[in-house]
Amino acid sequence: MAFKKFVIGFDIGGTKIGIGLGSDSGTILGKARIENVNTRPEDILPKLVSETARLAHENGLEIKDLAAFGISAPFPADAANGIMTAPANNPLWRNVPILAYLKKELGIDGCFENDANCGALAEWFFGAGRGCTDFLYLTMSTGIGGGIIAANHLVRGGKALSAGELGHIVIELDGRQCNCGLKGCYEAYSGGRALAQRMAEELRDKPESMIMQLAGGNPDAIDMVVLEKAVRAGDAYAVALWDEMSKRNAQAFGMYINIFNPQKLVLGTLAWAVGDLYINPILKYLPQFCWAEPLAACEIVTSELRRDIGYYAGVAAALNYLKETGRL
Ligand SMILES: [Zn+2]
Repeated sequence: MAFKKFVIGFDIGGTKIGIGLGSDSGTILGKARIENVNTRPEDILPKLVSETARLAHENGLEIKDLAAFGISAPFPADAANGIMTAPANNPLWRNVPILAYLKKELGIDGCFENDANCGALAEWFFGAGRGCTDFLYLTMSTGIGGGIIAANHLVRGGKALSAGELGHIVIELDGRQCNCGLKGCYEAYSGGRALAQRMAEELRDKPESMIMQLAGGNPDAIDMVVLEKAVRAGDAYAVALWDEMSKRNAQAFGMYINIFNPQKLVLGTLAWAVGDLYINPILKYLPQFCWAEPLAACEIVTSELRRDIGYYAGVAAALNYLKETGRL
């Protein structure tokens, strides 16, 4: 029997940090959570070290017994050097060399990955992507992020390390403005934030509309939960918008399927929160957007890890790092 390897993972979110102690057999042995709203890195970084020690001790281990650590961090970041440059939700975190700090203070090897890639790695090692050589993970949340596993490897791309930005493919000429600066991105049609902004614009002066009523008359309170309720109630505007979103989802997924011939597309947040109402229209439209053979070979499934994915993200990054360096 192979010697068991233990790793520690850090998921650096804008409001909380999830820490997981995991093993290569696919289990999480211990978890911790640190609040991360308006924090200073000099207060938080030492806690990552003390929590690692605590979780290790609770499992009869020392930090030096851990084979690696993994950091799952939001972009923008200097991923090549493991530096968090300017995370959107943490104004006091600027140019924080978190990878070098943890290597020094923990005294073990580790890696730094963007959080969407870590979502794909988490599903690969622990969730719906287990056993796949080729699959794509899509976050499907306020924005649309993703990670690509192809030919049994995480695809990071070239110098910019920006592969997997699956929400920012332009699917409409001179289309809707995207938050990234481009026009016509897929995310501008199907991302939760973009759809909420669009509904607020279009319904601001229509207090009688079902969506405005469900939002208590406040256009800024319109969100995907409100849209889903209105769709289920049969509201014509909501049903038409949902249908457009579903076609755009199918358009993007069709591109991914023809490009990557994946075994699975694993969908996060909105897909599992909404269920069949989300998935079924995409399945209906997909044959218009990709070839029959790769479509038949691709399963569209929802995330298995769901809300817990953060505890697995850094752990999976660490396990993948061991795999890439021939230690797993
Ligand atoms: Zn974009």
